[in-house]
Amino acid sequence: MKTILVTGGAGFLGSHLCQRLLERGDSVICLDSFFTGRKQNVAHLIGNPRFELLRHDIVEPIVIEADQIYNLACPASPVAYQYNPIKTIKTSTVGVVNMLGLARRCKARILHCSTSEVYGDPDVHPQTEDYWGRVNPIGPRSCYDEGKRVAESLCMNYHQEHGIEVRIIRIFNTYGPRMDPNDGRVISNFITQALRGEHLTIYGDGKQTRSFCYCDDLIRGMMLLMDQDQETGPVNIGNPGEYTMLELASEILKAIPHTESTISYMPLPKDDPKQRCPDISKAKQLLGWEPTIDLPTGLERTIKYYRQELGMNENA
Ligand code: NAD
Ligand code: UDP
Repeated sequence: MKTILVTGGAGFLGSHLCQRLLERGDSVICLDSFFTGRKQNVAHLIGNPRFELLRHDIVEPIVIEADQIYNLACPASPVAYQYNPIKTIKTSTVGVVNMLGLARRCKARILHCSTSEVYGDPDVHPQTEDYWGRVNPIGPRSCYDEGKRVAESLCMNYHQEHGIEVRIIRIFNTYGPRMDPNDGRVISNFITQALRGEHLTIYGDGKQTRSFCYCDDLIRGMMLLMDQDQETGPVNIGNPGEYTMLELASEILKAIPHTESTISYMPLPKDDPKQRCPDISKAKQLLGWEPTIDLPTGLERTIKYYRQELGMNENA
């Protein structure tokens, strides 16, 4: 049994990770500033004697004992990370230095959550880990993209200079229950719009692509990466099933047959990447990992969650 610190533990992915670690028998310290996280995401874990919830911002230093650290703290939705861009950069720089310093002090292994956004608007497709990316350093997404790129550099420097055991995961678009219905990402937007009978808001012509991974697959890959001894990373974890936003909208409308929603078009946000798909050869070879849940199955589970969140019955 280990004591594991999960930063961003009350967020969408963090809450699933905390739950899996507790199920495995570990003790979990869930640390969160509640910027985009919600107490309700971990309400079912409160009361477990191996679970502790701490309100803290990683931009401020903290002293805590842990055997492993999963660093998830950082807003992930473009709407959320652009709300206070300077704070977003601080979280991925000052915050990451604080967590790496803590790992050094505790002699803990640390897994840092990076992102497919380090590839920017990619001209290599699908994206392999050795592709360096195409990021606009002064655009509206740069607070997140460049922050995550600095964070990867910090992880490698702490690893090389101080011998810290680091693991870097590059997460591609992931969805599932407990994603905040108001967080502005495409799957939460489309599902809540379809359930309410509103237009599905397609940004641009809807021909841009993303590859969507269900949260349970992602968390399994994340834990496999943390617990193996060979590889620092970065390792891509994502589902290579690639969809245009028009195709995604049509899948969601198919899964909610009684909806009266149709689609409407809105302007494409600046620097929105045109295509994104992970090459997961490294994860397959190194971790024996690949996703098992396809988009229709994952959407069905996610729609069920949003129905409950919005207080709707099964047939709505
Ligand atoms: P989320 O917004 O639901 O969760 C992030 C959590 O971090 C929230 O609970 C938030 O309150 C907390 N947080 C933010 N800033 C903090 C700070 N300074 N100190 C302490 N806590 C802070 O997002 P998510 O989808 O669960 O993403 C989790 C991690 O995975 C993030 O690092 C994100 O960049 C990464 N990621 C997610 C995706 C995805 O598709 N979900 C894709 C790529 C990378
Ligand atoms: N998108 C959309 N309608 C929405 C929200 C997003 O068409 O209501 C598009 C967005 O422009 C992008 C894709 O969906 O091309 C994924 O957006 P999201 O914010 O989920 O993630 P990211 O852009 O960070 O991959």
